[in-house]
Amino acid sequence: MTATPMPSLMPTYARTDIAFDRGEGAYLFDGAGRRYLDFAAGIAVDSLGHCHPHLVEKLTEQVGKLWHVSNLFRIPGQERLAERLVANTFADSVFFNNSGAEAMETGFKMMRRFHSDNGAPERYRVICCNGAFHGRTLATIAAGGQEKHLAGFGPAVDGFDHVAFGNLNEMRAAITPETAGILVEPVQGEGGIRPAPEGYLKGLRDVADEFGLLLMFDEVQCGAGRTGKLFAHEWSDATPDIMAVAKGLGSGFPLGASLAVEKVASVMVAGSHGTTFGGNPLAMAAANAVLDVMLADGFMDSVTRVANYMAQAMQALVTDFPDLLDEYRGQGLMVGLKCAEDGQNAALNTRLTDLGMLTALAGDNVLRMVPPLIITEAHVDEAMVMLRQACQSVQDGQ
Ligand SMILES: *Cc1c(COP(=O)(O)O)cnc(C)c1O
Repeated sequence: MTATPMPSLMPTYARTDIAFDRGEGAYLFDGAGRRYLDFAAGIAVDSLGHCHPHLVEKLTEQVGKLWHVSNLFRIPGQERLAERLVANTFADSVFFNNSGAEAMETGFKMMRRFHSDNGAPERYRVICCNGAFHGRTLATIAAGGQEKHLAGFGPAVDGFDHVAFGNLNEMRAAITPETAGILVEPVQGEGGIRPAPEGYLKGLRDVADEFGLLLMFDEVQCGAGRTGKLFAHEWSDATPDIMAVAKGLGSGFPLGASLAVEKVASVMVAGSHGTTFGGNPLAMAAANAVLDVMLADGFMDSVTRVANYMAQAMQALVTDFPDLLDEYRGQGLMVGLKCAEDGQNAALNTRLTDLGMLTALAGDNVLRMVPPLIITEAHVDEAMVMLRQACQSVQDGQ
């Protein structure tokens, strides 16, 4: 056996051999100055595109003032961001973390503690959905329930049950005296860009209320304006008790948030939970700047207008390449093209990169597009030219 040298960077990713040098709006540029239309946005993270002038201004201002202090002191940026999130959502209170998985973990801890404080510590199990993705920590891989993420990392954290996404009967049947709550992504992201069926979220709300369970939404990917509302569940008439947010909230600055209604948030007291980095002044400056833009009049209308334009273009593509593309799925600027055969999504992704457009993959053979929310119809037109070329070449087997 010849020993392959161990790379100094742990090889957890099969990386494309491109290193980007700078970004501007919906475009990235590599070291040689080649331009790419970025419809991956760092996996739904760069919600306002690259180097948005307002974010650059606000972060630069903060960089020269104060980066980090511990949560043992008041952090005015946190208070402001929390107030704004509370004012614009179902939530009464917010905890800030550094990532999506951590925002999820905080949610799980709140669920358990809520029932424990209410005299039912035996209620600790969470019913999750097949095809879900909730992160890569031990608890979140157990919640996601995907074999490929759990393999070799056993024993799996106890307390997560799984039912079919979209099936209310299965959900009801899975409830036991040990159930603490229900967890769902209003639009499944990694699982293949699958919006919850009409009426499902409201149905879950009713089930949760009937059985005294907490309802938690994972809006790490579909939240922060991605669907044309600040949070995706606003398209339904259901609100959760707990919600995890991250990805687009910092538009590239790592940050997560766990939102909760009063009866849940009130079980978290001094000492029950903590974080060293979560909610530091730099992160708060980034997220407050993101909200300045997203909450401005007309922003979400523009996301919806472009999203509708893109949905029509995607439908047309599916019509024109019926052997390659099974369907268009999506909500807002969370867009998926389901390919007919295994691996065609990856082939399209590679072809598009060669052509100068970045996309991502998702489960269920889906090519995923989660562009910055600042794109216009002209960016969609530009994307369509490359998408048509890529579809033609994959369909022709080239
Ligand atoms: C990305 C993602 C997570 C995990 O977020 P990290 O910041 O990678 O920990 C959780 N849930 C959903 C729906 C996601 O898309």
